Amino acid sequence: MRIAIIGAGLAGLTAAYELRDSGHEVDVYEATDRLGGKLFTVPFEVGPTDMGAEAFMARRTDAVEFFTELGLADSLVEPSGLGSLVYVDGRTEPLPRAGIMGIPATSEPVKHLVSAESAMLIDGEGEQPGFEWEPGQDMNVGQLVRERYGDEVVDNIVTSLLGGVYSCAADDLGVRATIPQLAAEFDRMAADGPNLGVRATIPQLAAEFDRMAADGPIHLSTAVANLERARKELPTGQGAVFNAFREGYQELYELLAEKSGADIYVDAFISQIARHAGGFTFKGGERDEDGKDIVYDRVILAVPAPTASLLLKGVAPEASSSLSSVKLANSAVVGMRFATDEGLPQNSGILVAAGEESVRAKAFTFSSRKWPHLAERGGALVRASFGRFGDDVALRASEDDLVDWALDDLQTITGFDGRAAGLEEIYVQRWFGGLPRYDETHLATVQDVLSKLPEDVAVVGAWVGGVGVPAVIAQARVAAQGLV
Ligand SMILES: Cc1cc2nc3c(=O)[nH]c(=O)nc-3n(C[C@H](O)[C@H](O)[C@H](O)COP(=O)(O)OP(=O)(O)OC[C@H]3O[C@@H](n4cnc5c(N)ncnc54)[C@H](O)[C@@H]3O)c2cc1C
Repeated sequence: MRIAIIGAGLAGLTAAYELRDSGHEVDVYEATDRLGGKLFTVPFEVGPTDMGAEAFMARRTDAVEFFTELGLADSLVEPSGLGSLVYVDGRTEPLPRAGIMGIPATSEPVKHLVSAESAMLIDGEGEQPGFEWEPGQDMNVGQLVRERYGDEVVDNIVTSLLGGVYSCAADDLGVRATIPQLAAEFDRMAADGPNLGVRATIPQLAAEFDRMAADGPIHLSTAVANLERARKELPTGQGAVFNAFREGYQELYELLAEKSGADIYVDAFISQIARHAGGFTFKGGERDEDGKDIVYDRVILAVPAPTASLLLKGVAPEASSSLSSVKLANSAVVGMRFATDEGLPQNSGILVAAGEESVRAKAFTFSSRKWPHLAERGGALVRASFGRFGDDVALRASEDDLVDWALDDLQTITGFDGRAAGLEEIYVQRWFGGLPRYDETHLATVQDVLSKLPEDVAVVGAWVGGVGVPAVIAQARVAAQGLV
């Protein structure tokens, strides 16, 4: 068979690697002049430096095993373990380590970040009527937490944390889509209910349970407390939660490309797919010696959702139309290297609470504090991030403005004067459509799209099975295998 993969980001390259020994001919088409997509390692003078993804969840043992299989085990590095900060109401505070994605079970871990009124809401939540939850459903994170704990928990904590992963406010994200363990706990609580087996034996207790269930059976604080209890019971000593690659993600994407054995065409923008009796041809695809379009038996789309929707028009119109509802969040990263790190906080980074009018950045990673292998290079390396879903700062701001804002905001927030510290190197990277918005309809949309795909077409990538590097790899491997 002849298989085409469109897109040479992590998903496309993983799919190509997965098919390496399948006996099929694989061609990869990449629109830009480089591989990796949102993985992008830039050659700073002091060493390769990631301007897209910089880490991955190392508790995903499937990812670590995959990197080991590739021969990259010795390239994996651990972070320093320094804590992170949050900038709220013009002051810096430690980011709470307890809770689930910033959602606490009690006010204790967050009371330095919220008012006494919010603390009372959190601690009184268990006494309020619960809320309804249908197992399997999803719900908007912002709406849920605002209703149960008030606005401050969302704006000061949850949006900063989730925004760091998804470039979206909590109000643009779904619970199951982004905090699946919390949705699963709601499922469990809703399905178990409090009255299993009781009705037959203690009817008056069952009646009381019915009354509680009529109030709505689920409490956010109970669900978070249950998850925290389960987390404490996990064995300790599993190593760092996150890892990175010593020489940046280029180690991974270059190796995947090389080991895949596929023919990879860069500067190859595919604008249309057509189906014929014999297979698929592409506008923008390669031609054979007779000048005819190469015909493919199978296609793997490894492109962002809006592009996938466009390309599916000719081959799966219903899937295409369903997918058109998925929107992307734009962002920009400013990488800055300073001659000295004197005065830079002893923290891994800082998140900015929603609604902080005085600064434009949404987060800073103090990369040389977070990663010992980057500290070894001397000086300081800092990454500033801009942009959340719905704002166009990453699109409209000039590079000069982004750099100025990064330096100004860093000084406002931490007191570190980057200009005085000697700005030695700088790189501005815009991510147009950096991440898909995982709102409360996203998972259902993906299921719908998958159910409408023909058997000879597969879709892979951040919008299908999760945005994190391990999730993208896992989904791409399964989908590639499924196609052949
Ligand atoms: C700023 C940022 C920081 C991140 N940080 C982390 C992190 O620290 N840890 C983590 O786990 N994840 C992180 N992520 C998420 C992770 O990097 C992405 O989810 C993942 O890399 C996406 O891979 P992909 O292959 O699905 O998509 P992409 O990387 O978007 O690849 C798609 C490819 O398709 C190509 N393409 C598009 N249209 C066409 C066309 N018509 N024809 C041909 N080619 C086309 C594109 O040029 C691109 O190369 C981050 C993402 C961003 C944006």
